[in-house]
Amino acid sequence: MSGSALYETFVRAPLIFDHGEGSWLVTDRGERYLDFAAGIAVNSLGHSHPHLVGALTEQAAKLWHVSNLYEIPAQTRLGERLVEASFADRVFFTNSGAEALECAIKTARRYQFVEGRPERYRIITFEGAFHGRTLATIAAGGQKKYLEGFGPKVDGFDQVPFNDLDAAEKAIGPETAAILLEPVQGEGGIRDFPLQSLKRLRQLCDEHGLLLIFDEVQCGVGRTGKLFAHEWAGVAPDLMAIAKGIGGGFPMGACLATAEAAKGMTAGVHGTTFGGNPLAMAVGNAVLDVVLEPGFLDEVQRKALLFRQGLAAIADEYPGVIESVRGSGLMLGLKCAVSNTELNAALRQQHLLAVPAGDNVIRLLPPLTVTDEEIREGLERIRAGAKHVAETASATAK
Ligand SMILES: *Cc1c(COP(=O)(O)O)cnc(C)c1O
Repeated sequence: MSGSALYETFVRAPLIFDHGEGSWLVTDRGERYLDFAAGIAVNSLGHSHPHLVGALTEQAAKLWHVSNLYEIPAQTRLGERLVEASFADRVFFTNSGAEALECAIKTARRYQFVEGRPERYRIITFEGAFHGRTLATIAAGGQKKYLEGFGPKVDGFDQVPFNDLDAAEKAIGPETAAILLEPVQGEGGIRDFPLQSLKRLRQLCDEHGLLLIFDEVQCGVGRTGKLFAHEWAGVAPDLMAIAKGIGGGFPMGACLATAEAAKGMTAGVHGTTFGGNPLAMAVGNAVLDVVLEPGFLDEVQRKALLFRQGLAAIADEYPGVIESVRGSGLMLGLKCAVSNTELNAALRQQHLLAVPAGDNVIRLLPPLTVTDEEIREGLERIRAGAKHVAETASATAK
């Protein structure tokens, strides 16, 4: 036995972090790592942000949990703020991204049901998608490696190639309820749908009476430099799942809906024990305090440009290591010419944390609060990592 009581589902790096400060993580041995993974786009405001620590500890001393049998003022407030800042009229709070997606999927099916079209329950998704690890969301994601061995795939998901709008249109049938996509695919390798495609998908949904569902679990809450990534396209979905960034590290998610889309979700048809609890809501409100501050998102865009230009220069210097830079805002990807795990290991040797993704990409997801100086420091380390990989490759070639 390998000495662990835990499921072997995670392949973990042999690092133990003891505490964090902004964009930095410090190990139990006192070594400092620049955190450009941010807990996979979760630590949107970095580590130990004083405003978040204050909000959580203040709430922790007062009240942790009452259940959704009672009024939760901070939940009402966070719901109102999300509505105010988005296309939505209604919000359902969850504990995770997958649960936010489950809520979106159920809301879409239920909408068609109360519209008198119960036969419409199927949802069109795109290859490379990642929507979570529940039975329904692995079916929605459609990836063989996540589906294998878990029994019959949950029925009701039809997948088409990434950004293939003709295929999406052809896939629409009498049983189709909705189209679901991440405006920027995260796990799939930082692949963004062209803004024109998002517009076209909106039209398709309108023409066929379908709901448009955006999964902004990873790309939402400021990651791309707008509060929500779809704002760049100037189109709104009917339903949207968010999670990761909204909790800043506290587990929470939400499904946002128009009043029309949510009209089937009446008393008793859906629920959650933990979702929207006072601790999560205190933190969610605190995250919004910062992200919605005038100028915050402009700063994200400005810093993103600085970071991206630096990365492009490194890609030019080491084309044998980095093929190209992709993504938007502080959700950037390095398409690797070597194996992405090799580059990731080299970056970790430079004490810079990144996250591998599909399509042989390295994801760079620094906290939205990252400073110019930390970006410059990060670029130095990425350059050093790329140089190391380039030299190792040429040494092996000799
Ligand atoms: C992480 C992620 C999910 C799943 O979120 P969990 O909190 O792990 O359930 C869903 N969709 C996208 C786009 C994600 O990045």
